[in-house]
Amino acid sequence: MIVFHLNLLFGGGVMTISDIATVNYDDILLAAKNIDGIAHKTPVLSSTQLNKSLNASVFFKCENFQRGGAFKFRGASNAITQLSPDQKARGVVAYSSGNHAQAVALAASLNGVEATIVMPSDAPSIKLAATRGYGAKVVLYDRATESREEIAAALGKQYGLSVIPPFDHPHVIAGQGTAALELIEEAGPLDYLFVCVGGGGLLSGSAIAAKSLHPDVVVVGVEPALGNDAQQSLQAGRIVSIDLPNTIADGAQTMAVGKITFPIMQSLVKEIITVTDDELCKQMRFFAERMKIVVEPTGCLAAAGVSSGKIDLSNAKVGVIVSGGNVDPTFFAKCISV
Ligand SMILES: *Cc1c(COP(=O)(O)O)cnc(C)c1O
Repeated sequence: MIVFHLNLLFGGGVMTISDIATVNYDDILLAAKNIDGIAHKTPVLSSTQLNKSLNASVFFKCENFQRGGAFKFRGASNAITQLSPDQKARGVVAYSSGNHAQAVALAASLNGVEATIVMPSDAPSIKLAATRGYGAKVVLYDRATESREEIAAALGKQYGLSVIPPFDHPHVIAGQGTAALELIEEAGPLDYLFVCVGGGGLLSGSAIAAKSLHPDVVVVGVEPALGNDAQQSLQAGRIVSIDLPNTIADGAQTMAVGKITFPIMQSLVKEIITVTDDELCKQMRFFAERMKIVVEPTGCLAAAGVSSGKIDLSNAKVGVIVSGGNVDPTFFAKCISV
């Protein structure tokens, strides 16, 4: 049961985020301890040119430099660390075709835990190879006829494996929140924090960290325009499901946010804005050309939201989570050359 005290959160009284039963600030501090020395403390970068053009101070938390190439390693490591010795001995199972697969595979191997990853049989061979390369067992499924959640749940039941979901799990959310925690530790108090949204694990964890440290910070989520289910959900006041969105932001191709992440976003996120695939390509190019960093399309969402001008940021101090950098070089080249 999740209990909220919205009047306490926004009413000017003492903010008690610990009233959110599933994840609270202490969970994020514990996660930070759990992943200390295992996850990278990724760099915080800025661009003088961007700051001038926006008349703002923008701080990019560069999770494209995280182990496994994305912030997902934080949540996966925290979740695996918190398993009991018996659960660790039995192993873990996860479903993903993307960054979560590699994150769980890597975090498991570092903890001496066996990982099984359920991946679509048509996943790019490079991703299958990367996941196997981290020592995980890959179980293939047919995207058209089978459900990966059901397969993972069945494997979990049959072999006693612990399921590590990509976003809707308190330990995963707490782990993801450490990215914002580190950003604020380094950059200081922020006026705004921009975070991309897929299932909402990164956004809800980041919002808890940021709002706990400085209740006045405005937390903004950024979604692909063609996959704006979180925006629709916040507007409708319930979780809205959409068809598989058609966008180059493959890490945000979720059809619905989580049952745990949604109420956290409802209470702590001011609004969700959207950007187009064209804006993502422009942002990718900006990162490459001006900041010399490779960022995947989904990793560009939050920054593209800042650049979109949809929110007036003049004189503001703005934090941006750059979520990942795993992108096929040929696709990257195509994207930045238009
Ligand atoms: C998974 C992922 C996201 C979306 O994260 P959620 O916690 O599902 O909202 C964004 N960017 C990258 C690079 C990812 O791998």
